Amino acid sequence: MSATILDGKELGRTIEKDLISRIDNLKKLGISPHLAVVIVGDDPASHVYVRNKEMACNRCGITSTRIDMSSKVTEIEILEIVKKLNLDDSIHGILVQSPLPSDIDESLIIDAISPNKDVDGFHKMNLGSLVQGNTSGLLPCTPAGIMKMLEMSGYQTSGKNALVIGRSRIVGMPISLLLAQRGIDSTVTISHSRTKNLPNICLQADLIIAAIGSADFVKPEWIKPGAMVIDVGINRISDSTRKSGYRLTGDVDPNAANIAGWISPVPGGVGPMTIAMLMSNTVLATEQSLR
Ligand code: NDP
Repeated sequence: MSATILDGKELGRTIEKDLISRIDNLKKLGISPHLAVVIVGDDPASHVYVRNKEMACNRCGITSTRIDMSSKVTEIEILEIVKKLNLDDSIHGILVQSPLPSDIDESLIIDAISPNKDVDGFHKMNLGSLVQGNTSGLLPCTPAGIMKMLEMSGYQTSGKNALVIGRSRIVGMPISLLLAQRGIDSTVTISHSRTKNLPNICLQADLIIAAIGSADFVKPEWIKPGAMVIDVGINRISDSTRKSGYRLTGDVDPNAANIAGWISPVPGGVGPMTIAMLMSNTVLATEQSLR
């Protein structure tokens, strides 16, 4: 069997195009959706992610402002910038690029962002709202992008055994909640580094979401034939044959495509869906600011 490849770039561009009429309606009211991105330090991967987000804003007609801060910045200085952006009515979305330097308390910064402008969907009020079953607000972008990918590919989630590998605040836990919600109705198993017999648990899964951060971790022989496999992982592997000196790979061994029914590639799978959902959240936050 050769899996159908879920083209996140194409699906993401479709989502972005669908936003354009909503953005035009806002502009007719004299309001231009505006995303502010705060980036601290010079982590090369973070700079690539921020550039990709700025490019997506350009494609959609969303204004973007980037605030670069030195890696020596203090928590108080970041909090002051966030406060300023919260008070600025021309800014509708605020994102503080992760990871922050190790001496900065990331959750303190995220919870300082106004929940109405929290387009990453990580504020405790937005995550709490998701726990309560409300999925109409600002959802975390990667889990929301995965749900959109499943929906757009026509995959029926109801009654399926879904295995989420990883239990992080930004991917594993929220995607588990989204898959278990009423109307989606998957039966969800959450696994992590202490899980025993993971290969056997994988073999029972109709749907696997791999969000670990370990290159090619999920092996083809762990996959149930025909399963839906969503690879969230982004791992940099050194590769001297490339100009960049590295290549990107996911958490799933690419040979899994010989067993799975559907598989999302890395790169070009969940990454572009995440960016498209960030655009979607920025438009939603702008629309909600009018209420
Ligand atoms: P975290 O490091 O926060 O979480 C990793 C999770 O994987 C943890 O829950 C950990 O378990 C679990 N884990 C680690 N080792 C194992 C193992 N051997 N078996 C089972 N579970 C294991 O990572 P994130 O959730 O932030 O990110 C995961 C991956 O997804 C990364 O590669 C990241 O770059 C990528 N990512 C991609 C995005 C995209 O847009 N495509 C967006 C966000 C992330 P435990 O809790 O026990 O430590």
